[in-house]
Amino acid sequence: MADDRKSEMEAVLRKQRAAHNQMRPEPMALRKDRIQRAMKLLTDHAEDLCKVMAADFGNRSPHQSMITDIAGTVNFGKYCLKHMDNWSRPEKRHVQFPLGLLGAKAEVRYEPKGVVGILSPWNFPVNLSFGPLMQIFAAGNRAMIKPSEFTEKTSLLTRELVEEYFTPDECAVFTGGPEVAAAFSELPFDHLIFTGSTATGRRVMESAAKNLVPVTLELGGKSPVFMGESADFAKAGERVALGKMMNAGQICLAPDYLYVPESKQDEAIHGVWQGTANMYPTLLDNEDYASVVTDRHFDRLQDLVADARDKGAEVIEVNPGNEDFSNTNARKMPLTILKNVTDDMKAMQEEIFGPVLPVKTYGHIDEAIEYVNEHDRPLGLYYFGQNADEREKVLTKTISGGVTVNDVIFHVSMEDLPFGGVGPSGMGSYHGVEGFREFSHARSIYTQPKIDVAKLGGFKPPYGPATEKAVKTMMK
Ligand code: NAD
Repeated sequence: MADDRKSEMEAVLRKQRAAHNQMRPEPMALRKDRIQRAMKLLTDHAEDLCKVMAADFGNRSPHQSMITDIAGTVNFGKYCLKHMDNWSRPEKRHVQFPLGLLGAKAEVRYEPKGVVGILSPWNFPVNLSFGPLMQIFAAGNRAMIKPSEFTEKTSLLTRELVEEYFTPDECAVFTGGPEVAAAFSELPFDHLIFTGSTATGRRVMESAAKNLVPVTLELGGKSPVFMGESADFAKAGERVALGKMMNAGQICLAPDYLYVPESKQDEAIHGVWQGTANMYPTLLDNEDYASVVTDRHFDRLQDLVADARDKGAEVIEVNPGNEDFSNTNARKMPLTILKNVTDDMKAMQEEIFGPVLPVKTYGHIDEAIEYVNEHDRPLGLYYFGQNADEREKVLTKTISGGVTVNDVIFHVSMEDLPFGGVGPSGMGSYHGVEGFREFSHARSIYTQPKIDVAKLGGFKPPYGPATEKAVKTMMK
């Protein structure tokens, strides 16, 4: 069965590559038309897509889905349309003296790679398939998408819509479980972008390595929040609450844990509590608050809390409406703050990816910096405070994929900033000109002048004084 699916995908890849080769060079207008069709697909079917995402999650606000998955992605398409002519312009480069005077020329052309595979997760199922697609098209490629099996209804609708708006040799969607995903990651693409967990990312990279397929890995990790002494704890708490509660914390960039000054711990926790209560006075019947995606994911989060409690953490449930969560099958979970956490707790070892928020304290900010540096490099890092020296210290002494200062997550919504991780939180990036380049091949083109440069430079046997002179000049 898996073999059949693999052959089917291989056949589409061959067709896409053949069409790509045959139609090159494709005009910019066709690239733009593909982006416009992707935008139209999202606009025409915004409501349907929000409905299926809500059905997949159990509950997910259509307003949230519109912001995070539909409008945000359409806007990104607009951004690509606006900048792609500039991005794709060939760049003149310098040639060493005196080659320029002799008529030598050097340039870089950003050319399409060919067929790019997209393996996407369930947490923002539309955004994380169509976002990369916009830049894959901008760079002149074709695409094959394998969306997540956890948001099955969304994946099926995506397939149906892509079939309606694109020919199979432009873009094709393949649905199925992890075995289809594994087979997909073994295809000899010209590039593969994977968004998902670090553990799966490692497997995807191993499979891609067999065909030397270049990869972009958009992974996860434990993104810390540094709160400085000078932070406005009420405002910081509100912003952390927004970032942690959106999509019920199922965001790769969600603030994973807080690091706060010992003396300000209660103030910081109160800020998060109040911020949460202001936005979500109740949770169970509140359409604005998303469910955890599956029972398995829900049980894992419950287990993180139970494990922390068993190992001595103080557990604070932010349940402003005093609701009874024990008898519901809605997979809704209140924000659960963990105090007095230790490194042996699972909540401090795994990426949380849900509404659980450990709080650690420091006597001096250096302890927090050291702790973060001793752990995997995170995808995001956040600093709250007004102390510029302290902020710079945190930024210059740590490494992370990206940073938002005085808020969380927002750097990803800046279309012109590259988005990606570093080390275990990922490699490569998209968004910004970097995304266009990620899906392009930077091809160097050097044009030799008429004059015999090799002889002039002493690179041509028989070697002699000209060679020695050239070596001396280079070594000086
Ligand atoms: P996941 O790694 O479980 O799955 C992601 C995709 O991989 C799915 O489409 C799945 O079908 C596929 N897959 C599963 N097994 C595979 C295999 N053996 N070989 C190849 N592919 C396989 O991730 P998830 O649970 O869907 O998403 C949550 C994770 O994704 C979190 O760690 C989160 O931080 C991360 N994430 C990262 C970003 C980012 O942009 N950096 C965005 C969203 C989510």
